[in-house]
Amino acid sequence: MTSHDPTCIFCKIAAGGIPAQRLYEDDDVLAFHDIRPAAPLHFLLIPKQHVASLAEANEAHQPLLGKLLALAPSLVRKQGFDDGFRTVINTGPNGGQEVDHLHLHVMAGPRPWKNG
Ligand code: AMP
Ligand code: ZN
Repeated sequence: MTSHDPTCIFCKIAAGGIPAQRLYEDDDVLAFHDIRPAAPLHFLLIPKQHVASLAEANEAHQPLLGKLLALAPSLVRKQGFDDGFRTVINTGPNGGQEVDHLHLHVMAGPRPWKNG
C-alpha cells in the first residue's frame, strides 16, 4: 500500500496539492526542480510514497532506491547537461536533512556552484 503523509510538503507536491516544476514522473517516482538551486541544474528525485528518510529504508525499498539512482543520468542528459553530475542524500538532523521525505539531490552544470 502506498503511504502518504498529509502534513508532508513533498507528499503534497507528489499529489499535486503544491505546485512544482516537474521534469519527470511515473507511478513510483517524481522529479522536480529544487526551489533554491545550488547548481545550474538542481532537481530532486523522490518516491511518491512517503518514506521519511534513507534511515527508514529496508530491503523492501531496494527496487525504489535503485530506480531513483538509475533515473538520474538520463534525466540529467534530457536537461541538456552532459559533463557529470553530483548526487546527494541528506539523512536525519545531523545529515542536514530539512524535508522529512526521502529525496535524492541531483546537481549539474558548469562550476563554480553556490553550495554544491
Ligand atoms: P534537504 O536539506 O536535503 O532536506 O533538502 C531539501 C531541499 O528541498 C532543499 O534544497 C530545498 O530548497 C528544497 N525544497 C523545499 N521546499 C521545496 C519546494 N516547495 N519545491 C522545491 N524544492 C523545495
Ligand atoms: Zn512525504
